[in-house]
Amino acid sequence: MTRQSPARRAIRILPPQVAARIAAGEVIERPASVVKELVENSLDAGATRVRIDIRRGGLHEIRVSDDGCGIPPDELPLAVQRHATSKLLEDDLERICTLGFRGEALPSIAAVAELTIASATTESPVGRQLVLFGSQLLADQPIAHPPGTTVTVRRLFENVPARLATIRNERAETAEIARVVQRLALAAPHVRFTLTVDSRTVLATSGSGDLRTTVLEVYGTALADTLRELEPFEVAGARFSGLVTAPELTRGSRNHLHVIVNGRWTQPRTLLALVETAYRPYLPRGRHPILIVVIATAPELVDVNVHPAKLEVKLRTEREVAQALAQQLSELLARTPRAFAFKRDVHQLDPLRPRLAEPATPYDETEEREIVTPAFPPLRLIGQLANCLVLLEGPDGLYLIDQHRAHERILAERLLAHAQAPPTDPVPLPEPILIDVRPAHLERFQDWIDRLAPLGFQCEPFGPHSFVLRTVPELPGIAGNTHLPMQLGDLAELAPALLSLASEPDDDDSDDWYQRCLVQLACRTAVRRGRPLTRPAMRALVQALGETSAPAVCPHGSPVVLRVDRDLLARQFDW
Ligand code: ADP
Ligand code: MG
Repeated sequence: MTRQSPARRAIRILPPQVAARIAAGEVIERPASVVKELVENSLDAGATRVRIDIRRGGLHEIRVSDDGCGIPPDELPLAVQRHATSKLLEDDLERICTLGFRGEALPSIAAVAELTIASATTESPVGRQLVLFGSQLLADQPIAHPPGTTVTVRRLFENVPARLATIRNERAETAEIARVVQRLALAAPHVRFTLTVDSRTVLATSGSGDLRTTVLEVYGTALADTLRELEPFEVAGARFSGLVTAPELTRGSRNHLHVIVNGRWTQPRTLLALVETAYRPYLPRGRHPILIVVIATAPELVDVNVHPAKLEVKLRTEREVAQALAQQLSELLARTPRAFAFKRDVHQLDPLRPRLAEPATPYDETEEREIVTPAFPPLRLIGQLANCLVLLEGPDGLYLIDQHRAHERILAERLLAHAQAPPTDPVPLPEPILIDVRPAHLERFQDWIDRLAPLGFQCEPFGPHSFVLRTVPELPGIAGNTHLPMQLGDLAELAPALLSLASEPDDDDSDDWYQRCLVQLACRTAVRRGRPLTRPAMRALVQALGETSAPAVCPHGSPVVLRVDRDLLARQFDW
């Protein structure tokens, strides 16, 4: 959404009944809040360039200048008054199209700092400048200024020692300011941003108007290879587009999840929670992608008046939107094998177009036939490497599959499926397994066994400190009649795995904990690295992996499949 304001409106004081309905609160908490408010004003003024200069974490000086519409000299004194705004049309809080609307930022800044505002418009050749400190007017004079506005803030919190005491240090404040400017720049790709810190340029965008270009300008071009486009779509009156990094590039915090609703950067909680559930299985614990989602919707479908610092908005169709987005994300991440090296264009695997298998060679039909699965292109088995990797040839390069993680993924999905729809006939073990439990863990173990029983784990007390495990659910490659050869995995690991789960703290009673336990069972019993595999076993493993929903990543989020691209080989060999 562009914020170009063709007909600028006059500033007026909001009627008290409107002012009262505004979610008020402390707007200015730290230097970054000043930067945010000032830049938002510049964007609302239709600026195409915004320059932000800060000194010493913004405590010494913050200056924001823009080439926006400017403020006519006769209105400038109004701009620094409380509840004076040019933005709220017809007092309609339901349809807000600007970033600001409360008329509070400038007076709030002037209350806690020295604020100098200089502005001029194309109509007024001479501009005007006001200086205020602690809400008192110190100076008022005409000034030469190009059309646009420059606001300078000094002596921040000098008159609010309590606030000053909560400011950590310059470095932390600088980092926060940079974060805020990054977010504003991502939300406004059509605006050219420059941020300098103590005269050093730390961020510059070109104002190209293109989201991908802006993301690369903000995060660095190293991202180019892993940045995937989300398929634009429309749901419940909201239009979406966006970009996400592939699983090989993740961050340790949620700070890089950007949701931009009608040009406003925000972190809608429900939406992000759902989105995170979608990518959680495909990324290592505690890691997050860089994600930029742009949502355009009618202003009445968004409530921006819910948070004092306007950090949150309420999207009236948040749930539908989140579900659609979550589905796309998990599809994208689940099926993307990690590229072996940086590549120019990362092709998505196309699961819908399995190529026709080559005619089988006459001498060993089964052996030479390509492995065709929904997830991968047809693959020809080459062999095993270092007793831990299965090597295959695909139309687009060499595939390396971690045998342990592949089996783990297959087992985990089977266990989770059993948990959803309990199997009807458990598999009797060839020999029941005796499990000795330490007295301290007896109760927990019994608990845990009760929860596993519906899955097909039949385990009964056997003497005071022992249990006997008689049946298990069908587990490919471990128990039951599946395509994977029996004894691929480690049946003997089952007892220690169950035991160790019982000694683990049940940190939360959530499904998440239960799922984690199942994943751990899969991990413990899956075929180890170091085991030589027969060719039929490798074929069956790859076949079963290609039929899982997320073959590219193991349940802990590590890669299962690496692809060495053909182009990469060609480049490396100088073909
Ligand atoms: P709000 O943004 O909520 O209206 P502010 O206190 O931030 O309140 O600003 C008050 C008014 O001053 C704005 O409504 C706008 O008319 C004017 N103003 C502030 N900054 C600028 C700017 N950079 N360019 C043009 N006008 C501005
Ligand atoms: Mg404002």
